Amino acid sequence: LGPETARLVASRVLDVPDFPQPGVLFKDLMPLFADAKVFRDVVDGIVAYHGRDGFDVVVGIEARGFVVAAAVAYAAGVGVVPVRKAGKLPRPAHSISYALEYGEATLEVHEDAFTAGHRVLVVDDVLATGGTAEATLDLVERAGGTVSGFTVLLELGFLGGRERLAPRPVHALLTV
Ligand code: AMP
Repeated sequence: LGPETARLVASRVLDVPDFPQPGVLFKDLMPLFADAKVFRDVVDGIVAYHGRDGFDVVVGIEARGFVVAAAVAYAAGVGVVPVRKAGKLPRPAHSISYALEYGEATLEVHEDAFTAGHRVLVVDDVLATGGTAEATLDLVERAGGTVSGFTVLLELGFLGGRERLAPRPVHALLTV
């Protein structure tokens, strides 16, 4: 993103203290999604970074990742595969459980979600500790996809997600 666009994107992210629990500064991207120009710039920025021919399918992580993934897929002329929370997928699925700050979460993807050899771009809204991203990338590979890239709109750099995912490359439109 150019400096002008980066400023505009940053202005469409709202800080919500103590949500969903005390001590968490929640980054609300709904104003960014709702702003036609900023949303378009963000989606176009992701496609430009990875190249229109740089991936064959886009994975979005439930639920805010779906918003970004569908738009990126449409812009690039490819399809979208949802990675869902436990119990939502109707057919046989691969499943990965991972530790959250408090408790545990499970993500799933259909066993037949990926065509062999297809390059998978994974997108999400926010990279925090990286646990969700790590689980998703593992899940995509377990289901036979080849991860070609990982992009988030916003990286919370101080939580070390990028280091956790190394050596996998992480692309963030904005880092705070
Ligand atoms: P992570 O700690 O990287 O596994 O983050 C888990 C998920 O929760 C990501 O998909 C983010 O969408 C969301 N998330 C975590 N921390 C925040 C935050 N401070 N603000 C907004 N979303 C967050």
